[in-house]
Amino acid sequence: LTDRLGGILEKLTRRGALTEGDVNEAMREVRRALLEADVALDVVRSFTDRVKSRAVGAEVLRSVTPGQMLIKIVHDELIKTLGSDAQSIDLDAPAPVAILMVGLQGSGKTTTTAKIARRLTERNKSKVLMASLDTRRPAAMEQLAVLGEQVGVTTLPIVTGQQPVQIAKRAMEAARLGGYDVVMLDTAGRTTVDEALMAEVAEVKKQVKPHEVLLVADSLTGQDAVNTARAFEERVGITGIVLTRIDGDGRGGAALSMRHVTGKPIKLLGTGEKVDALEDFDPGRVAGRILGKGDIVALVEKAAQAIDAEKAAKMAARLQKGAFDLADLREQLLQMEKIGGVGGVLGMLPGVAKMKDQIAASGMNDATFRRQRAIIDSMTPQERRNPDLLKASRKRRIASGSGTKVEEINRLLKLHRGMADMMKAMGGAKRGPLAGIGRA
Ligand code: GDP
Ligand code: MG
Repeated sequence: LTDRLGGILEKLTRRGALTEGDVNEAMREVRRALLEADVALDVVRSFTDRVKSRAVGAEVLRSVTPGQMLIKIVHDELIKTLGSDAQSIDLDAPAPVAILMVGLQGSGKTTTTAKIARRLTERNKSKVLMASLDTRRPAAMEQLAVLGEQVGVTTLPIVTGQQPVQIAKRAMEAARLGGYDVVMLDTAGRTTVDEALMAEVAEVKKQVKPHEVLLVADSLTGQDAVNTARAFEERVGITGIVLTRIDGDGRGGAALSMRHVTGKPIKLLGTGEKVDALEDFDPGRVAGRILGKGDIVALVEKAAQAIDAEKAAKMAARLQKGAFDLADLREQLLQMEKIGGVGGVLGMLPGVAKMKDQIAASGMNDATFRRQRAIIDSMTPQERRNPDLLKASRKRRIASGSGTKVEEINRLLKLHRGMADMMKAMGGAKRGPLAGIGRA
């Protein structure tokens, strides 16, 4: 992030909740940083609005400055927008699985086709066939054949005079006969989005019904990449994005914009001209790049650690007093959702492995965590502190308020009782198992 933002963040030294004034001022600089990173204007707007609504009123924990708290929120939201779960190429379909590569000319389609074919051959041990449907440039098919030899992947023999759809059908037929797992179809591009290109690609898609349609886009083209992504998504429909030239000096803003505009996951990154220059998409790294390198990312990590440690320490203090109410359980459920599994803050406390087992045994997953949080959210603060207040009529109200069932509420209360009992037992131990928490 820019020095100016750093300065503004440092000025935010008051304690307590983040005020609208704090956030507005910082957001001006965040907006500037995003625009510098080549994020599309409308994406910048909706992003900063979202961050603002999350940040205003957020409690600033003692262990970090308000500036750090804010940058942590910006960073988290960036990762969320970029897609926090990395998605790889989906081959879960009857063989031969077709992957259609689309995009503008020069975006890196042909190179990326060979890169992916190489990766699938080596990592997944898939039998891959590549075919070029680029009938516009005479050298295009030859280029793919040369790359095929280089990476040791078969290419469909070139037959002149065939149309893209015919070639695609021939490739699928050859793959069926030859027992191939995957068929990679490389298409022609144009320098700009035009109807002829779209019609051609759409026709191939209609005839072949590929399992993946990957848009290959040059990350250095910024705003253009966004318009391209929008056009391909609307006219053809894509399943994912590969961003190339990440090795260039772009700031990664295109990733944010394309994800935002299409809603489709960025699956891979092209990081160079060589055939092994292909990487899985890492939202954390791209977020760091958008925010502008080293310091900020380190700052975010430090803040995140401090925040988690402080929460753990607060929780530990409550546990030692034997107080574990539904609000505490809610915090736990949130942590578990965040890290995608059972653990969270409790995982940082020694001696609670048993409790984790208990939760795991109840077969809970993210969806159940969310429903249980919804149940707790529908309660009054008094009820959260003292679940015994919940009589049948209140349970029914809460069930309808949270879109759940009374049985689910009962299950949640049972889980809470079990956990609270265990906490009490541990708190009573001579040298409590929680001793030492919050010092690290
Ligand atoms: P196509 O027209 O979309 O098929 O694009 P090509 O695959 O022919 O690539 C165009 C040029 O971009 C070639 O010189 C490639 O070597 C280069 N290229 C492709 N991907 C990358 C990348 O990730 N990084 C860099 N630096 N160059 C790339
Ligand atoms: Mg090409």
